[in-house]
This record gives sequence, C-alpha cells and structure tokens, in this order.
Amino acid sequence: MPAPLFIGSEIYRRSSYGGRHPLAIPRVSTVIDLTRALGWLPAAQYRTSPRARPAALTAFHTPDYVAALVRAEAEGAVDEATRDRHALGTFSNPVFPEIFRRPATGAGGVMLAAELVRHGGIVHVPGGGTHHALPDRANGFCYINDPVLCLLRLRALGMRRIAYVDVDAHHCDGVEAAFGGAGDVLMLSVHEERRWPFTGALSDDAGGNAFNLPVPRGFGDAGMAAVRERLILPALEAFEPEAIVLQSGADGVTEDPLSRLEMSNGAHAAMALALAGMAPRLIVLGGGGYNPWSVARCWTRLWGALNGHPMPDRLPPEAEAVLEALEWRGRAGGRAPPAAWRTTLADPPRPGLDPAALTGRIAALRARLPGLAERMAALAGAPRMAPPLPAMDADR
Ligand SMILES: [Zn+2]
Repeated sequence: MPAPLFIGSEIYRRSSYGGRHPLAIPRVSTVIDLTRALGWLPAAQYRTSPRARPAALTAFHTPDYVAALVRAEAEGAVDEATRDRHALGTFSNPVFPEIFRRPATGAGGVMLAAELVRHGGIVHVPGGGTHHALPDRANGFCYINDPVLCLLRLRALGMRRIAYVDVDAHHCDGVEAAFGGAGDVLMLSVHEERRWPFTGALSDDAGGNAFNLPVPRGFGDAGMAAVRERLILPALEAFEPEAIVLQSGADGVTEDPLSRLEMSNGAHAAMALALAGMAPRLIVLGGGGYNPWSVARCWTRLWGALNGHPMPDRLPPEAEAVLEALEWRGRAGGRAPPAAWRTTLADPPRPGLDPAALTGRIAALRARLPGLAERMAALAGAPRMAPPLPAMDADR
C-alpha cells in the first residue's frame, strides 16, 4: 500500500470562527506544524486541499443555501430571513470572514481524498468531519457536510459498499439524514448519550443501515476498545466495505470542554489503525475537538500511528515550541496548561468504565449482524442523490 497522504490547507491558519466560539482555536494548522516539527510530514505525503466550487456542494446542499454562504462571505453579514432559514449568523454558526471558503476547502479536501484512494490507500484530512450540516442549513458549527460529500464522491467513483464510522462525541445527524435507507453506505456511530443533538438512539437504525451506540460519561479507552472489537470490526467484516471513512472527532478526550467521554488520544489512533486493516481504502477525517492542545496531539498521534512512527516519550524541542505557542483565551485550562499538554504526544491509557456496563447495548446491535450484508443489499440500492459534479478550484 502506498504511504498515507495528508490533505491540509493554510486557510485554517488565518481563519477563526471568532469571539468566544469553541472554534476560535487553531487546530489544523497546529497539526501541520506539529507533524512537520516531528519530521512526520515530508512534502511527498502532503497535498494542498482544493476548494470545492459552489456547484459541487449542491450534490447535497440546496443551491439557495450555498448561495447564502457565498453572499454571507461577500457581505460579512446576513439578514434576518437568511438567519432564520439557513441558521447562519447565530452563536453556533457565526458569520466569519471565510464562512464560504473555509468549509468549501474542507469539502474540496475530502473530495480529493476520495479520488486519491481510488486505487487504494490511506488519506488523512483533519480539516474535514463537519458531520452536522444539513441540506438547507448550518448546524452545530458545521456549514457544509463534507463527510456526506466524501461518501457521495466515493459512490460516484464506483464504490458499492462504503462504511462510515464516527467516533466524535456527538451523533452524526447530518450524515444519517443523507444516507438513511441507502444500501451502499453502512453507518456506525459511537457518541455520548444525552448530549446534543440528542439523535442516534440505540433503537435508531435509519431504515436498516445505521448502527447507533450512545455511551455514558466516563466511557474511556476500554469502552472504545470493547465497542471496536465486539461491534465495529465484526460489522465491517460482515459488510466487506470497499472503502471506509472514519470521522475521528477529538472531542471524546478527557481535556475536551464539550463532552465527558474521558478517553485518551490512544483510542482514536487505535481505531484508525484497526480500520486500516478492514478495507483497501481509508479516509480519516477530523471533526469536533475544542481544546487546542488535545486536538493537535490527538490528530498528530493518529497520523503518526498510521505511518508506523514510534511515539516519543517526550517531544523534541521544535515540537514543544509549537505547543508552547498555543493560547486558549478566556478558558481556565488555558491559563496554566499542564506540562503534559506541551511536552508529550501520547496520553497514558485511560481505561474508564468497566466495559461490562456496555454489554447489553452492544448485544442489541450485534443481534443485527447475522445477514447484514444481505439486508443491506436488499435496501434501495439506487443513490438517493445525484452524484457530485467533478468541480474544484485550486486553493488560492
Ligand atoms: Zn463533536
């Protein structure tokens, strides 16, 4: 298999959601700097994300909504009607200077990733993973649903069995809305129970092709390992996907301010490594993650694991300097970040709750595994949406 590829963009360095928004922090730019400081991102493995054209985004989004994003960027504001209809200009989904270009770059990145894995391989797109966006509205900090566009592109490239695995702390409501009932896309989501968007109940199968596992606070690494070994890998074995898309939101780690899953960043790396062995094509996206240190360390560790790099006990000085330079204004954790956030990459294991507490819910989902491939094949196989247009602009 060829060396994994990393798709990034400098747009993430200069753009921010602004103010007190959880995404006022740098994320992708820190991952790029940290992986480079470690010597883990040679030019041969880096690709600059193209920006998707508005027309390409209408493979999932409405033309009116895409036009509203373009207009919001040009005008720097939205009127009341636009705010009400498209949920733009709210606290969650603020108008910011790159409100169109930044999500369109995320979309271009994942669509390029789909093309790059066409003949096999692994691609990491940490700027992707905005899994909440809906066809006609922004939702949960997400403007364009790049995971949906990635899956559509894989479908348009001829993949007939695609698996989507989502380990973000929040349920992937936008992706489920797009692909519920589609026999060619198997969706597996692990997310914190009783947390926004409050969808993705254990009993919600989206018409047969979704496995939703809400998990309790304090879940931890042992919980995720049990879910991986007893549910996710067996489901993939049954479905035999041609491609896997992993949304690896980093908000399930202990340091994250928006959830309580209490995992270490080893849980994310272990999941990505396990999935790499389950299909000839793997695309790893980012997602949530709201502590600038923990997000950068999580996705850098994941990239290092995919490349087989040994984890350093202590970071070299150039890498420490990247983490030392981070700020987290207005946050208690930002005033005196613990030394481990600045000097290490790999968290020690955080076992969390006894996986026995998950036995019942895992069993409920495992009961659906026998005959899964046949039932998926019997679902309406025809794509519910038009294939995306092959249209991308170069980054500029
Ligand atoms: Zn999340």
